[in-house]
Amino acid sequence: MKNTKYVFVTGGVTSSLGKGIIAASLAKLLQARGYSVTIQKLDPYINIDPGTLNPYEHGECYVTNDGAETDLDLGHYERFLNIPTSQANNVTTGRIYQSVIDKERRGDFLGKTVQVIPHITDEIKHRIQILGKTGEFDIVITEIGGTVGDIESLPYVEAVRQLEWELGKNNSVVIHLTLVPFLAAAGELKTKPTQHSVKMLMQSGVSPDVLVCRTEHHLSEDIKRKLALFCNVQQEDVIESIDADTIYDVPMLMFEEGLDEVVLDKLALPVNTKPDLTAWNNFLKKHKNPKSTVEIGLVGKYVELQDAYKSIVESFIHAGSTYEIDVNIHWIHSEELTEKNAASKLKGLHGVLVAPGFGERGIEGKIKAIQYVRENNIPFFGICLGMQMAVIEFARNVVGLSDANSTEMNKTTPHPVISLMEEQKNIVNMGGTMRLGAWSCKLTKSSKVYEAYHTEMISERHRHRYEFNNAYLDKITAAGMKVSGINPDTNLVEIIELPSHPWFVGVQYHPEYKSTVLNPHPLFVAFIKACLDYKNSLT
Ligand code: GLN
Repeated sequence: MKNTKYVFVTGGVTSSLGKGIIAASLAKLLQARGYSVTIQKLDPYINIDPGTLNPYEHGECYVTNDGAETDLDLGHYERFLNIPTSQANNVTTGRIYQSVIDKERRGDFLGKTVQVIPHITDEIKHRIQILGKTGEFDIVITEIGGTVGDIESLPYVEAVRQLEWELGKNNSVVIHLTLVPFLAAAGELKTKPTQHSVKMLMQSGVSPDVLVCRTEHHLSEDIKRKLALFCNVQQEDVIESIDADTIYDVPMLMFEEGLDEVVLDKLALPVNTKPDLTAWNNFLKKHKNPKSTVEIGLVGKYVELQDAYKSIVESFIHAGSTYEIDVNIHWIHSEELTEKNAASKLKGLHGVLVAPGFGERGIEGKIKAIQYVRENNIPFFGICLGMQMAVIEFARNVVGLSDANSTEMNKTTPHPVISLMEEQKNIVNMGGTMRLGAWSCKLTKSSKVYEAYHTEMISERHRHRYEFNNAYLDKITAAGMKVSGINPDTNLVEIIELPSHPWFVGVQYHPEYKSTVLNPHPLFVAFIKACLDYKNSLT
C-alpha cells in the first residue's frame, strides 16, 4: 500500500493553455524516475460525461477500457504514460451532483440540509482520492478543468483547499498554469495577468506552490523574479513553458526547467534517480527526422475542428515514427465529396482513412471516397462508421443491393446491411448506453489484420449502436468481402477486409484509443506501411 501524494493542476488567465499536456508531461517525468503515477481530470460542466456532446463543442470523446466516455485529455494521459485510465480518471460536476442527489434520495444524509459545502465538496474530495486509495500510485495528478475565477470552478478550488489541509505538509502540491503574454507594441512580456490569476486563487484560500507560465518568448531571470515576488513563490518554482513544435517535446522542456524536481522536492520524495526517457527520445528522434512522407486523406464531417479526431491524428504520429515517416494529413470534408469530384479530391493520396461519426450528414461522400479507393487499389482504413460505410458501399456496388444502407440513416431501407443491435432496440436514454469499452475479438489467421497484430485474440474499445447485420453475411462474403475478426461471445462482426485489394480494412472498434508513444497501434502501423508501399509502387 503506497502513501499516495497529490498534485493539483489549476489554470488561470485563459482556457486552452494545455493543462492536460503539462499534467501528462510531469507525470511522464515522474514515471521515468520510477514513480507510479496516474492523472485525473475534473470537468466543471453539468453533463454527466462528454458522451452526449457534439464534437464541435468538445472535441473527441475518448473511451476507456471500462467503457467510460471521457474528456480527450485522458487520451493524452494514456498516450504519454502508456497505462490505461478508467471512469475514475474523469469526473464532471454532473456526476458529482448526481451521486449527491442519489444519496439524498436514499436518505443517506439523515434529514440534514444538503449543500454545496460540505456535501458537494466532500464528494469532490472523495472522487479525487478514489485513485489514491487503490494503493497503486505514488502520485495522483488531478487536473481541474476550466479557469480559476469561473463560478463553476469554485467548489473544486475549495475542495483542493480542504484536501491540502487534511493531507498535511509535503503530501500535496498545487501547480498553477498561466499565460505570460507578449505585447508586440511594447516589446515586452507581461506578468500582470498571472499576478491577478494567482490573487484570485489566493482569495479562495489556495496558494500555488509552482507556477508554470505559457509563453511565446523565453522568460528572463528578471521576469521570473518578478513573478516569484508578486505571486509568493520561490524563483525556482517559476517554470517557463515555451511554445513547442510538438506536444511530445513538452516532457523534455519541463525536465530542463526542473518541474519534476521542484514537485518531488515539495512532496519530500527523493530526486536522486535520473529520469529514463530513452524510449521516448528514440520516438522523438524518429518523429522529427522523417526520411519520407505519405499523404493520407482523412475523410470526416467534423474536419473544421481537428480536435474531433485527436486520437486518430496522434495514432498517425506514433505509427509514422515506426517507419520514420511524416504522415501528412489532408482533411477532406465528407459533405464536399461527390461522385464527380471524388477522383480530383483524392488524387495524389497514398491512403484514405474514413472516420467515425454519427448521423446522416456526409455519409454519401464517405461512400464515394470508399468506392474510389476500392476501385483504384488505394489503401483504405475505415473506423467504426467508416467500416459500416465500407460494408454499405460494397453491398451497393459489388453485391448489387443498390439501396443498401444502415438503419441509422434510413430506418426503412430494404437492405439494412448495418442495423441496430438487438440490445439497443429498447433503449431510450442516449447517455452512456452505446456498446462501450473493451470487447474481445478473434482474428482469422490468414488475414491482413492477423499479419498486423500477430495474435489471434485481441481486445479493442468500442463506441457504437449499430453493427454489421449477420443476415447479409453470406451474400457479402460470397461477393469477396472477408470477415476477419469476430466477437467470440456474440458473433458480431468486428473486422472486414478485401483480400483482392492491397490493403482495405474496416474495423467496428476504435483502434486509435489504444495507440501510445511507446506502443503505436499495429493497425495504424500496418496501414502506414501499406501507404508507403503504394507510394513506392507509383515510382
Ligand atoms: N454511428 C455509428 C453507430 O452508432 C458509428 C459510431 C462511431 O463511428 N463511433 O454504430
